[in-house]
Amino acid sequence: MSADFARLAAEIGKIERGGADVVHLDVMDGRFVPNLTIGPPVVASIRGCTRLPLDVHLMMARPERFLDPFIEAGADWLSVHVEADVHLDRTLNHIRARGKRPGIALNPATPLALLEEALPLADFVLLMTVNPGFGGQKFIPSMLKKIDRLREMIVSNGYRTRIEVDGGIGPDNLADVLGAGADIIVAGSAVFGHPDGASAGVAEMKGMAAGTQKGGVGRPS
Ligand code: ZN
Repeated sequence: MSADFARLAAEIGKIERGGADVVHLDVMDGRFVPNLTIGPPVVASIRGCTRLPLDVHLMMARPERFLDPFIEAGADWLSVHVEADVHLDRTLNHIRARGKRPGIALNPATPLALLEEALPLADFVLLMTVNPGFGGQKFIPSMLKKIDRLREMIVSNGYRTRIEVDGGIGPDNLADVLGAGADIIVAGSAVFGHPDGASAGVAEMKGMAAGTQKGGVGRPS
């Protein structure tokens, strides 16, 4: 959502050249979050201009209604908010049954305890590190401890769930976020607002991550 929506193909080309591993798409419904962004037709258009996996973050009420339209539009990863879906088990199983990667998203104030039963069903957990709805917000510092506690929860259970972090992440706090245990970094403003352009923005963060963590950031396995 930080890209220029009138030039999405060119914007995605820039992040591909910078070495991005995934394209993260923020779907907002004006109800679960106080903003509106894109729906399946735009996802389908984006699908036509990149081979990178499309990571569709459904910031919407009752996301189960729209799983199939987004999958048919070309989504590869789909995350739904635990706060928005009362049938998380069914939703995550449906995404997997359709051959896609299911993820669970949590708002900053939502406790990790809500993940307990559903964690084995998810390939990744998306921790919001700002309150969802708008780009350009500041990272909430207490989220570092939450990343660390989630890492502990995953390791102690022997799961292989990856941790994705989303909101306010850039070169100034990337090392802290990786150090806390994040695997996949979503960056919007830090990339598209980079003074040398989006390619340089991705390349800078990828370079920093390669020095911090073996294997780089967000590489789909
Ligand atoms: Zn997002």
